[in-house]
Amino acid sequence: MSSIILEARDIRYRYPRGMEAIRGISFHIRKKEKIALVGPNGAGKSTLLMMLNGMVRPDTGMMLFDNQPVLYDPASLRILRKRVGFVLQNPDRQIIAPTVYQDVAFGPTNLGNNETEVREAVTRALRHVGLEGFERRPPHQLSGGEKKRVAIAGVLAMDPDVLVLDEPTSGLDPSGSEDIIELLDELNHEGKTIIISTHDVELAYPWADRAILMKSGRILQEDIPEVAFGNYESVRSAHLSLPILLELHRELQERGFPVQEKKPRTILDVMHCIEQLVQKPSGRKGPGRITVVNVDGDDLDTLPGWRSSRGSTAIGAMGTRAKQYAEKSGVRLDFTYGVIDKCILKALLGKDTMILTTGSMVARVYQRVNNYGTESGVHIPVLPFVSEKNDADENTDGPS
Ligand code: ADP
Repeated sequence: MSSIILEARDIRYRYPRGMEAIRGISFHIRKKEKIALVGPNGAGKSTLLMMLNGMVRPDTGMMLFDNQPVLYDPASLRILRKRVGFVLQNPDRQIIAPTVYQDVAFGPTNLGNNETEVREAVTRALRHVGLEGFERRPPHQLSGGEKKRVAIAGVLAMDPDVLVLDEPTSGLDPSGSEDIIELLDELNHEGKTIIISTHDVELAYPWADRAILMKSGRILQEDIPEVAFGNYESVRSAHLSLPILLELHRELQERGFPVQEKKPRTILDVMHCIEQLVQKPSGRKGPGRITVVNVDGDDLDTLPGWRSSRGSTAIGAMGTRAKQYAEKSGVRLDFTYGVIDKCILKALLGKDTMILTTGSMVARVYQRVNNYGTESGVHIPVLPFVSEKNDADENTDGPS
């Protein structure tokens, strides 16, 4: 298990002339964890998040970063804020410069980097969030989702270890929210610890490694989402609703269906549950194949031809660069969110699919499909895309 990066020890905080917002909280967050802080308005989520990078100092108790107590002198705070990046709920409050470039350059410039280093940091950050070419645009002309991405790029330009995001999907439409969550997954996969606050239970439940349920300045539950959200009393007392998948599982159990104890996190888990309850339709074909394309590394010249010769193959894209590639090359995407699970679901119906992705996420596809195979006993072939007329040999062990 990875080491602890952030810790709170019995912290309390009262706003000047306000009520006590944090009432004795302790927790720890490990490196590379995805944490969702969930609770109703006024629970203390924003206040707690602001303690993670020293914006708010607890009245009593102690915050630790990398096992060291947080110090609140300006020099120590500068170092802490470089390592713990904070994305405010409202991007209009975070974006301050007249152009996207200047805004994203603000952090690295303040760190004293030279012009070349700043340009490299800005280019890298904008590429990461899928906003290459937006450098000269005035931020106030961008959409809500784009502004959010500029704010995230501004933080990424400092290359922090931890990203803290207050309500990252608030005000975004469902597809904008999915894009942000995908981006956070991508960053997490690259090694960053991600902490978000939200009152969107359906978003937090499948996404988080651990959920922290808060109410009235206290922690009600802190555990893997199945357990944290599985305590109905806590969920109800935090004025939250049960994730729909847990509700379904509970209803099946209460009606005496012999469903497995393990609670479902995804639609795939639910289908597995249901398939154990009812006889599968007869005549079902063997599983379909999943072809994995690395849009950064593979030779893609023959991809359009490959695609048109397999018109029924559904295509998904994971990650910003893969989605950009699809848009640029006119590839119509069937899935842009929860792509691996959706491809597994199709494969179980005997249908072939293709996943466009990049870098280390290629390995994640193999890992997820192989894990599913181990859990369910259904072996789904995963193949690398090969730029030739003939298909590649089957390979379920992962990319070489
Ligand atoms: P959440 O993010 O869960 O909605 P907050 O951390 O914003 O909760 O607020 C926690 C409590 O602190 C609430 O009761 C809120 O009214 C109070 N509070 C937040 N900001 C201030 C402030 N600047 N001054 C006084 N009270 C505040």
